Amino acid sequence: MHRPSFQTSFSSALLFLCLLACKSQPATESESYYSVDDFKNVRKIDTHIHIFTERDDFMDVAEENNFRVVNIALDPRNEMDVVRNQFQFCQIQKQKNPESVEIASSFSMEGWDEPRWLDNTMAWLDSSITNGAIAVKIWKNIGMVYRDKSGKLIMIDDPRFDPIFKMLAERDIAVIGHLGEPRNCWLPLEEMTTNNDRNYFSNNPQYHMYQHPELPSYEDQVAARDRMLEKNPGLRFVGAHVGSLEWSVDELAKRLDKFPNMSVDVAARMGQIFYQTHGDREKVREFFIKYQDRVLYATDMGAGDNDTKESLTKELHDTWMRDWKFFVTDDSLESSLVNVKYRGLRLPSSVVDKIYYQNARKWLKAFQEEKAQ
Ligand SMILES: [Zn+2]
Repeated sequence: MHRPSFQTSFSSALLFLCLLACKSQPATESESYYSVDDFKNVRKIDTHIHIFTERDDFMDVAEENNFRVVNIALDPRNEMDVVRNQFQFCQIQKQKNPESVEIASSFSMEGWDEPRWLDNTMAWLDSSITNGAIAVKIWKNIGMVYRDKSGKLIMIDDPRFDPIFKMLAERDIAVIGHLGEPRNCWLPLEEMTTNNDRNYFSNNPQYHMYQHPELPSYEDQVAARDRMLEKNPGLRFVGAHVGSLEWSVDELAKRLDKFPNMSVDVAARMGQIFYQTHGDREKVREFFIKYQDRVLYATDMGAGDNDTKESLTKELHDTWMRDWKFFVTDDSLESSLVNVKYRGLRLPSSVVDKIYYQNARKWLKAFQEEKAQ
């Protein structure tokens, strides 16, 4: 009477142990990982690039590093001519490199006060889409810089933008939104977590919001973006620069849970990710694994007429390699972006492939005609 029940509990204990072992082993043994040397063999997309020249140097270097790019226009001066000119360079780059360049247009706040602004903007976006734009970029001038004739700062949840987002959602065109700034922008220079933010805001005091307390807060900027997403659940949205939530994977996770049609690129914010990894590597690693379908690799690098192949080769390769080492190895690393050491995340190769390639196809509909890896 005793024996069978002992045997039963013994074998269920064995089964339990086996299940435990089976559950924990695949993560370490059946996953495959890339090495540093795989860098050139793995097909990659940098989804946030600004090449505003006819020169081939940038794309030559990109191809040497096995990178395709999304070349993006923006509205840096509230001038439609600048947007038009940048998008023209985007088109030239795509014509020259149809297999390795996708392009994103933008629109300008110039003429906002005029009644025809909306019609003109819709017509421009329509022609951009006809000319190959897969996405539309919104720049931080909306929310941070542009004021209407009454002096009111225009935020992205302004109802006047609604028809634009409705049209883009209907036509299945993504919005790449650089809205707000890193949270460091609202802190004094000595409290900023990364050297690149400290340099940028000491050189651009007009954008250093710590010095402009009368302007909207960091929270105001993020809240306006969130309200815009609430109004447009059908819009495919890529939050540029980690969606301005670069300082906390917890805050970012909350938004990604709330907005299923939102993803983020990591352009120009790897320093903040390194900084968070220094603080809690496991948490950051778990974030990238849990949200592996929602993050797009990007750098925000670019080129103009004065950039040569010589000047670009090292800058591009060093930046791309710095990030590759972070994602694929678990080496102890350092970067000029931060004054702390951090360890690489050593993500499984299946996750790396999503961040570097598949998510750009999914969220930006980039390189759709290419055969999947
Ligand atoms: Zn950019």
